[in-house]
Amino acid sequence: MRYIKLFLFLLLLVSHGNAFTLKTNAVEEKKWGNSETLLKFLEQNALPLKLYYELDEEDKKVMHDINIGTTYYIARDCSRDIYQAVIPLNEELEVHIYKDIANKYKLEIIPINYTQKIYKVKIPITLSFINSITKSTHNYSLALNLQRILKRKVNFKRLSKGDEIAIIYKEKTWMNKKFGTQRVLATYFKHKKSKVYKFFYNGKYYDKNAKVTIKTSSFIVPCRYRRISSIFTKKRWHPILHRYRPHHGIDYANRVGTPIWATYNGVVTYAGWVRGYGRYIEIRHPNGYHSVYGHLSRIKVKNGQRVKTHQVIGLMGSSGMSTGPHLHFGIKVNGKWINPANKIVVVKNTQSKLRRKILKQVKRYKRILDKL
Ligand SMILES: [Zn+2]
Repeated sequence: MRYIKLFLFLLLLVSHGNAFTLKTNAVEEKKWGNSETLLKFLEQNALPLKLYYELDEEDKKVMHDINIGTTYYIARDCSRDIYQAVIPLNEELEVHIYKDIANKYKLEIIPINYTQKIYKVKIPITLSFINSITKSTHNYSLALNLQRILKRKVNFKRLSKGDEIAIIYKEKTWMNKKFGTQRVLATYFKHKKSKVYKFFYNGKYYDKNAKVTIKTSSFIVPCRYRRISSIFTKKRWHPILHRYRPHHGIDYANRVGTPIWATYNGVVTYAGWVRGYGRYIEIRHPNGYHSVYGHLSRIKVKNGQRVKTHQVIGLMGSSGMSTGPHLHFGIKVNGKWINPANKIVVVKNTQSKLRRKILKQVKRYKRILDKL
């Protein structure tokens, strides 16, 4: 257990506007354990279990999003009772447990009050690619990330004297520590006078001509739609429930009865009713992928059935908790939700209008990179 300065914690509390009294001189920093659950956490810390039981089904599910190894903080009063606990749920939201003015425990899900900073660095590659970047930025995951972004264009085993990398990246800080995953916004790798550029735009990396450079896959958009009514986000203000929640998918709105297609070949692993999501289908695809389809008006497949890309599996509806006809579409990899927009290829849009937008950003970042 490590103690960190109290003022940081106080800052955090002040920013949430909660009343609190100063009864302690230390905050404990802990790691979310291997088989830890919110219920176990409450039990072990003598906190009321109803904090969990009184959550609705969806919020209970969301509690499983807390990653093993997540750093969290608790503060105790002089009788060793916890009066504050802050547990990150994902990179945007945290579970906040606290004693209110009436000395009653409360649990809420609120945005994490992190700060974000943009770093611009140029690093000569003198050791291996990974080692040079890690040594200079103290950030191993950034080095791995860059290797992944550049791997199709750079032969990391054939480096030569004078090679260098320039990076613009964004990183979050929370409780005085690096927090979450960093985002590489732009980079070039220079090898023997030629530079390979990569630029981030809306979930994908592009080269300096604004062409997609990381091939995604052949997953397709699961239906025709009039508009996207909700995007994938780790933090969404829920209009019906009036609270924050992650939205682990994309909502495609169209009229009731619009055919819904399988996004890729697979096997139906669930077809039936799910609370909140109404009529719901889950399909298992190769390589640890699953896709889900919610709020359907009709299901046209059965459990265990094989389906092909573009095969109609159901019809759009508004079943479950829904404000209007739309498809809730989600993709997970090895049990973790990912942004479907990063997985689906929309080829027709990468021309003209979108390309001009990307090129504008590419130019801006390229100018900064080249001046580093
Ligand atoms: Zn949705």
